[in-house]
Amino acid sequence: MTAKPAIGLERVKRWLYAKGLEERSSGCVLCGSCYGHGPVNPMEDNPGFKTKCPPYEFYRFQRFTPKSRWLMSQRVFHGLDSITPELKEIIYTCTTCLMCQEICGVRNDGYGPWDITVAMREEITEKEGPLEAHRPLLEGLKLHNNPWSQPKSERGKWAKGLSVKKLGEEKASTLLFAGCSADRPEGRAAAVALAKIMKAAGEDFVILGEEEKCCGLYACDLGFRSEYHRLQEENLKIIKEAGVKRLVIACGSCRRIWQDYPREEMGSVEVLHGVEYVERLLQAGRLKLTKTINKKVTYHDPCHLGRGCGVYEAPRRILNAIPGIELTEMERNRRWAWCCGGGGGVPEAFPDLAQWNAEDRMREAKQTGADLLLTTSAVCIRNLNRAQPNLEIRELLEFICQAI
Ligand code: SF4
Ligand code: SF4
Repeated sequence: MTAKPAIGLERVKRWLYAKGLEERSSGCVLCGSCYGHGPVNPMEDNPGFKTKCPPYEFYRFQRFTPKSRWLMSQRVFHGLDSITPELKEIIYTCTTCLMCQEICGVRNDGYGPWDITVAMREEITEKEGPLEAHRPLLEGLKLHNNPWSQPKSERGKWAKGLSVKKLGEEKASTLLFAGCSADRPEGRAAAVALAKIMKAAGEDFVILGEEEKCCGLYACDLGFRSEYHRLQEENLKIIKEAGVKRLVIACGSCRRIWQDYPREEMGSVEVLHGVEYVERLLQAGRLKLTKTINKKVTYHDPCHLGRGCGVYEAPRRILNAIPGIELTEMERNRRWAWCCGGGGGVPEAFPDLAQWNAEDRMREAKQTGADLLLTTSAVCIRNLNRAQPNLEIRELLEFICQAI
C-alpha cells in the first residue's frame, strides 16, 4: 500500500520554515517584492508594475500580502496561532494569480509564497472543512466530478453535432480535453472552436465526452487535496489505458494543472493548450488564416496560461498572422499581466474583490482603444463580464476559427 501523501502545512514543511541558520535564507526574508513594495529581485531586469497582489491592492492592509500569508502559515505550523475566521478570510482572498510565485526569488527550487497559501488552504480544509461559499464546489467534485454539479449527461454535450470521435468507441493518440467550463452553455466556445480547428487541420483525435472529469483545478487551488489526488489518479488511469500521447486542452487553467501532474506518471505525454497547438499548425502549413478581420484587439493573458505555463507569445503570433488585425497591448501584459479576479474561489467567497479586479482590468483594456478584448480562459471571460464592460469580450480560439 502506498503511503498517504502529506497534506497541508506538513506538505510544505521543507519550504515553510528553515530552522537551521544556514537554511534561513530559503524562507521569506520579508523583502516586500511580491506585492510591489520591496527591492527588485537582482535577477530581474525590470521591476514590473507596483500593482502585484490583487487582494492587497483591494484591501490595502499588510495582512493581505503574500508575505503575511507566509508568516501566518509559519505561526500556525508551529502552533503559535490557531485558525481564526480572520485568518481564513486572508488565506482565501488570494486569487491564485501566481504573481508572487513569479517574483519571489528567495527559493531556487520553484516553490514560493503561492504554494504556501495553497498548503494553508489544505490545512484549513482538513481541520475545519471548506468555506461555506466553497462547499458546493467540493460537493460537485465529489458527486459529479465537476465543480458546477452538472450531471454526467451534460458532459460532452458541447460536442453535439460536431461529429467528433469518442474515446471508448474509437482510438486516437491525441485527446481534446474540454475542461469543466464546457459543461455549461456559456463556457463551451473554446472547446467547440478547438474541435473545429482540429477537424479543419485533419487531426485524428478523440474526446472523452461523458467520461471526462475535472482536471483538479478547484480541488488543487482551494485546498481539497485528497480530492485533487483522486481526480489526478483517475485521469492518469484513463489516458494511460487509452494510450494517449498528446493532450490538446481548451482551457488555460486545465493546461496548468495537467502540466503539474507528476512527470513520472505522465511519461512522454505532451500537454498543449489550443493556442500552442494552433501555432504549430500554422508553422507546419496545416492551417491557414486567410480571412481578413479589420479589428483593433487587445489580449488578456490568463494568469494560469501565462505565469502558470509561460505561454505568452503563441496567442500574439497567431493574432498577428490574421489579416487586418491590429494588436494593441494593455500596459500590464505578459508576465506582469493583471489578474481578472476570477480564480481561487474568490468570486464565490469575496464577490466585491472579484468585481473590483474585473473592473480594474477592463478599465485598462478600454484605455487601449481596442474594439474587443480576447482571452482564452472561461474563468477570465466569466469574471471580466462581471464588470459589465462596454467593450466586447471574446474567446480567442473561437475568434481564430472565424479567420480560417
Ligand atoms: S514572499 Fe518572497 S518576495 Fe514576498 S516578502 Fe517574502 S521573500 Fe520577499
Ligand atoms: S497568488 Fe496573486 S493573489 Fe495570491 S497571494 Fe500571490 S500575488 Fe496575491
